[in-house]
Amino acid sequence: MTNVSLSMTLDDLAREAAGCTACRLSQGRTQVVFGVGNPRADVMFIGEGPGYHEDKQGEPFVGAAGQLLTRMLAEVGLTREDVYIANVVKCRPPGNRDPLPDEIESCKPYLEGQIRNIDPRVIVTLGNFATRFMLDRPVSISRVRGQQFEVHGRTVVPTFHPAAILHGGGESSSQFQALRADFQTIRSIMSEPPPLQPEEQLGLF
Ligand code: URA
Repeated sequence: MTNVSLSMTLDDLAREAAGCTACRLSQGRTQVVFGVGNPRADVMFIGEGPGYHEDKQGEPFVGAAGQLLTRMLAEVGLTREDVYIANVVKCRPPGNRDPLPDEIESCKPYLEGQIRNIDPRVIVTLGNFATRFMLDRPVSISRVRGQQFEVHGRTVVPTFHPAAILHGGGESSSQFQALRADFQTIRSIMSEPPPLQPEEQLGLF
């Protein structure tokens, strides 16, 4: 169990996560990989969990998959500092295995707290685990990628995990073309004016 409450700021959550022992992943970690980027970002990216390099450096998406993510961001005019990047689980699963359901559940209050504090308009889920977390159903990424889902007033855009592209066909693959297209979708959503808030619709301000 974590000690996360609804009033916690991003810094509170990061401090709490740094000492977390809520699941077995805490035993094998070098450090907790909480998240990085703009705490007021309009767009947040959610991956699966830290790999070898992330565990060593304490920052998400710094290895090969991270380099591809950074490149895709650049293609649509964004830097890592413009967005916020986090993972479903904050500690590295041993040997990069998939996170287990109870590990995802234990870590859930941190990701929920990050979303609450950052309050992004758009959430991009990278791969199956983040997509299932946000959509709360056992979808397959290849079926839902590139679509837009409204979840608690935010737009969720699932896309392929960059590591899947690297392990799959690379730049010549149809998955890579899909990833590119999905980033263009993200760009076009970001260029739309934000939807009116209910009080603005009522003309109170
Ligand atoms: N893969 C992920 O899902 N997250 C990272 O931070 C790095 C690789």
